[in-house]
Amino acid sequence: MSAQRDGAAPSGLRSEATREDGASGRRPALAREALIPVMRPFLGEEEALAAAEAVRSGWVAQGPRVARFEQEFATYVGASHGVAVSSCTTALHLALVAAGVSAGDEVIVPSLSFIATANAARYVGATPAFADVELATGNLTVDTIDAVRTSRTRAVIAVHQGGVPFDTGALRAACAGWGVALVEDAACAAGSTVDGKPAGTGAAVAAWSFHPRKVITTGEGGALTLDDGEAAVRLRRLREHGMSVSAADRHKSAQPVLEQYLETGFNYRMTDVQAAIGLVQLAKLDAMVARRRELAARYHERLDGVEGVVPVRDPAYGTTNYQSFWVLLDQRYDRNDVLARLAEAGISARRGIMAAHSEPAYAVPADLPNTERITRDSLILPLFHELTETDQDHVVDTLTKLL
Ligand SMILES: *Cc1c(COP(=O)(O)O)cnc(C)c1O
Repeated sequence: MSAQRDGAAPSGLRSEATREDGASGRRPALAREALIPVMRPFLGEEEALAAAEAVRSGWVAQGPRVARFEQEFATYVGASHGVAVSSCTTALHLALVAAGVSAGDEVIVPSLSFIATANAARYVGATPAFADVELATGNLTVDTIDAVRTSRTRAVIAVHQGGVPFDTGALRAACAGWGVALVEDAACAAGSTVDGKPAGTGAAVAAWSFHPRKVITTGEGGALTLDDGEAAVRLRRLREHGMSVSAADRHKSAQPVLEQYLETGFNYRMTDVQAAIGLVQLAKLDAMVARRRELAARYHERLDGVEGVVPVRDPAYGTTNYQSFWVLLDQRYDRNDVLARLAEAGISARRGIMAAHSEPAYAVPADLPNTERITRDSLILPLFHELTETDQDHVVDTLTKLL
């Protein structure tokens, strides 16, 4: 969920200020004037060294580090194959190409999602059909999908909303029954679980993001994970111009290799510099999720009793990584006013998840009451690895006071 992706990339100044405000103890006198960002990637010296090592190796485009990263990431989510790409947006595009979705088809998507989910349908010439979500998780359900399903429905892109998994077992079974492809938009879900297993395990295909707004980052970057080996071969080819032999494999060969271009592909490759960073980030993922869940538990402790505020929580069938910690405000509050007043107190909260159907790029009428309610009345509170308890208390105190 990156309704407001700018929260991910703090300006140098802001970043300095918040770092000072962090665990170092060197709290500046005007600490409260330093914005508490909504999100900050957890990057350190190790990532810098790994990136430098990739540069020094002389191989900076897609190469051995990408191969290692995609395999390690697939193993982490319990999939047989990983295909690293340039972003989750391009991952979604390739997933629909591979599923054979094309002009004239309809792809059911939640309107309540970052706009890339809906755009993916248009990239293959299909029409996105917007389905509503349930209020508690912000996710599609079998019923909301069924309500907009037609004879032209070819695929569903279901989003694990802000890290909160959708009811994976139910949606997979329903889509299989309808004969409709299910693409899992797991952009925000690295480290979330379903029935005790990582989100994405057993997916026909899941798409991931490593944008800094998500839990782990490679700068820009994404991946597809899946169990079908033949489909993985095709996806690898599609990300690299449709080439029969990858550039990395051609380079390794002692003899000249003449590649062929088997179909119209794309340049959606990740670089080895990004993958080097990703390998370090992946090793930290469990610790990052643990810290996020610890901070989320503190939010719950302090907000659960507050009237008119409903914080996001784990669904019955799984756990969220709390990529986004959103709260749904009672309708008597003006969410934008709450945001403005949090900003005055030095807190950079964000509006909740956007609704694609009301953006100018789509602007289609749709009857989506829960989507409209969530997008109008929810806001995302600061939550990131290095958020201090003191800053978090300031967020809770400010919010409860102003409500
Ligand atoms: C962030 C996000 C995307 C896009 O990811 P990129 O890697 O930035 O392309 C797609 N879907 C959802 C649900 C997202 O939150």
